[in-house]
Amino acid sequence: MRPPAVNPAVTHMNAVYVNQDRLWDSHMLMAEIGALPKGGSCRLALSRDDKQGRDLFVRWCREAGCTIRIDQMGNIFARRPGVDPSLPPVSTGSHLDTQPHGGKFDGIYGVLAGLEVIRTLNDHDIETSTPFEVIVWTNEEGARFSPPLAGSSVFTHRLPLEQVHDSKTVDGTTVLDDLKTIGYYGDEISSDNHELACFIECHIEQGPILERSEQQVGVVTMIQGARAFTVSVTGVDSHAGTTPLQLRKDALVGAAKMVVRLNEIGLSEDEATRITVGRFDIQPNSTSTIPGSVQFHIDSRHPELNVLKKLEASFRKDLAAIAEEAGLDVIIEPFLSIPPTPFDPDVIETIQQVTENLGYPYRKMLSGAGHDAMNMATITPSGMIFVPCEGGISHNEAESALPEDLAAGANVLLHSLLKLSGTVI
Ligand SMILES: [Zn+2]
Repeated sequence: MRPPAVNPAVTHMNAVYVNQDRLWDSHMLMAEIGALPKGGSCRLALSRDDKQGRDLFVRWCREAGCTIRIDQMGNIFARRPGVDPSLPPVSTGSHLDTQPHGGKFDGIYGVLAGLEVIRTLNDHDIETSTPFEVIVWTNEEGARFSPPLAGSSVFTHRLPLEQVHDSKTVDGTTVLDDLKTIGYYGDEISSDNHELACFIECHIEQGPILERSEQQVGVVTMIQGARAFTVSVTGVDSHAGTTPLQLRKDALVGAAKMVVRLNEIGLSEDEATRITVGRFDIQPNSTSTIPGSVQFHIDSRHPELNVLKKLEASFRKDLAAIAEEAGLDVIIEPFLSIPPTPFDPDVIETIQQVTENLGYPYRKMLSGAGHDAMNMATITPSGMIFVPCEGGISHNEAESALPEDLAAGANVLLHSLLKLSGTVI
């Protein structure tokens, strides 16, 4: 059995704990925005539902006494002042957007845990040495437009603002137009003049390790590397009734063989290897026409950069061979390349110490999924706190987490940020 989130045996932290019920209720209220029939939520980036979620968050933050700043990517920064307002804030946050069939906790937990930390500081009249900041990053999921992690990528200068502004959404609009439409095209320019002392992101694990080992907190040491590619396969559109099979240049048949080969390449590597084709577009997508062109995405991930490079070399060779044999053209273009990201040793150490002091069973672990903290680690000392989710299920309406686990992670966040801000309570 896990201990309760509020551990009565621990008194040396002056018994400052987050309010578990309030944190839970905030999740349930936010989940009503974009609610889906099977219990999940759909708030695609820059959609009307995303706007509503943002509006609610901003209202809650203002009620908690925060000032709000919005940058040109629509990233939201809610700041609670510290004793010295000129010092860079300790910061936390995550994302409000979801997958099309998203759950109630992915991303939003990191945002609401940050808000709960601020509400808790207010409850106890705690003046912190530095300001505290809660950040909402735009389009972490990449479901409505590419690339994912867009807001934090622009903030950390990993992607040019104009390039993301010009990206087309699945609805045919541009990101810049949508930012203006929902009223979140702010005036702050990227991270210029926006220094941060550190960044910690709370997140559900999205995997089964913590639950299986009955541990309540994951102290995340690194995020594995990720590379994504667009593959364009070109053949020739022709009539499904008149063109003999032997004479076709069927882009879909070729692309299907490529998908199978990608899976084989992944299976031939070690168990940490991930290769996925999750997006697939056929043209002209008409019953009686042999598909002349197909585009799909490859998502590859591994903790080691050299394995990622080896994977790319081997699928480039094999996909070219499949295309040549079928008389097709293939172009493979990278659109995302994030090296494995180690987190800051001092931030990891702080999170680990705080978790031990609070008495939560924990483990050190790596993150299989990408998160905004991965970008933040390139500009400020960063780390992550994981909590279990039921069955390790995420990106699914059935995604579920326990109130006491969410509170445990938020307590670790609260005391880690207090320590990193140099505040003694
Ligand atoms: Zn997430």
